[in-house]
Amino acid sequence: MKASVALFTADLRVHDNPVLSSALADANGTVVPLFVLDPAVDRAGFLVPNRAAFLADCLADLDAALRKRGGRLIVRHGDVAEQVCRVAHEAGAGTVHVAGGVSGHATRREDRLRRALSASGRELRVHDAVVTVLAPGQVLPSGAKSKGHFAVFTPYFRRWCSETPRGVLRAPRGIRTPEVRSDPPPKAADLAGGWVSPALPPGGEGEGRGRMRRWESAALDEYADRHDDLAGDATSRLSPYLHFGCLSAVELVGRARARGGAGADAFVRQLAWRDFHHQVLAARPDAAHQDYRPRGDRWRHDAEEIAAWRDGRTGYPVVDAGMRQLRHEGWMHNRARLLTASFLTKTLYVDWRVGAAHFLDLLVDGDVANNQLNWQWVAGTGTDTRPNRVLNPLAQAARFDPDGAYVRRWVPELASVGGPAVHRPWRLPATERARLDYPDPIVDLDQALARFRQARRID
Ligand code: FAD
Repeated sequence: MKASVALFTADLRVHDNPVLSSALADANGTVVPLFVLDPAVDRAGFLVPNRAAFLADCLADLDAALRKRGGRLIVRHGDVAEQVCRVAHEAGAGTVHVAGGVSGHATRREDRLRRALSASGRELRVHDAVVTVLAPGQVLPSGAKSKGHFAVFTPYFRRWCSETPRGVLRAPRGIRTPEVRSDPPPKAADLAGGWVSPALPPGGEGEGRGRMRRWESAALDEYADRHDDLAGDATSRLSPYLHFGCLSAVELVGRARARGGAGADAFVRQLAWRDFHHQVLAARPDAAHQDYRPRGDRWRHDAEEIAAWRDGRTGYPVVDAGMRQLRHEGWMHNRARLLTASFLTKTLYVDWRVGAAHFLDLLVDGDVANNQLNWQWVAGTGTDTRPNRVLNPLAQAARFDPDGAYVRRWVPELASVGGPAVHRPWRLPATERARLDYPDPIVDLDQALARFRQARRID
């Protein structure tokens, strides 16, 4: 074959990329590595400034990695199906390779591509286990009651562990890219103008691989013990690189398993959570917006309380610290995501969709499967087998930020308060309290708990 097209989507890397490797094998090394900036993604509200800035870095880095190997990234703007057909025509390519996706957007894109390409006698090849470790649907529950996917993580994880992931692929050595017109790689501001978090991490495969290696040697072994330590900040922070596919989840699992130990096992388990949510969304695309398990909630909507939560001014320091980390970094520690989401959905009893939308506005790793289904997990409308558990922010603070260092880092108004007293500023002596420009709690935790239990009809 003369050439083939590798359509990059959520797999912006040259290492361990079945899409790129198969496209190369198909056409004897002559490939059009293509990325299409489709206004449909913009219209869906997905391209917010933080992710746009990260994406621009990823595309520049991918172009550099391809050029090092003799090729280059072709960028086009416009409708994805139209642009892919045009590029395939210009390059004389008969096959287009793409990663399988699970979001509504990805499945619609796949359908449209298949139809448009087959109309001109071309083929679309969709590759599994590019975004996830195992393809959604690769492990299925047995039994008549199963809904074609696992609805509970533990049995899923057992089956997931018994499967062998595909082998890790080397980065290609040489690539030839035929003469095809390309738009210049976009700048962040061309993709989405607006305010970007000041401490947003830089994007790209090179950056991701550097972080992966540094984290593996510095913190992976201790991950099981330290992943919930808010101030310790000892998780990998690889989520944005996984989200944009700068890193391969298959490769990460392979490297962790080769290293072995409790830290590696715990890390692999988290990557299985990522697969788990993807297989739920693949089976239930409506769960991006609808309750996965409706609980008959009649959510409250108090605009002032929601604004206080978003701005990190609820008067509960650990909640406020998490919300301010999100704004500043475009990322939040998992423990903080759990407790801030529980505060919104259970303590304030506000619809999870309000919180999920705010997270998606800011998170650099913001992802339909992981975000919407984690929100539902916390709200008790998702896959949690204990849907009515409520995370008390004071108990969470005592357990996961015992000295208050996380709060002092993110809530500067409280930086002068030493030790765990920082978690209950309302108990400080009146003179000290008066000096702090920090609000009183917006809600009483006991009353909020009673309200939630009544709403969910728990005796
Ligand atoms: P690590 O602890 O180092 O874990 C390694 C990887 O495992 C992560 O990078 C991530 O890809 C995966 N992972 C870890 N925990 C989870 C989980 N609970 N569910 C799915 N995958 C997981 N993660 C996202 O990638 N995108 C989101 O939009 C997102 N929204 C969330 C919203 C809420 C309310 C909650 C509670 C969690 C959300 N998560 C999301 C999951 C998790 O918080 C992040 O993946 C994690 O904090 C990223 O940090 P890390 O890379 O240091 O994780």
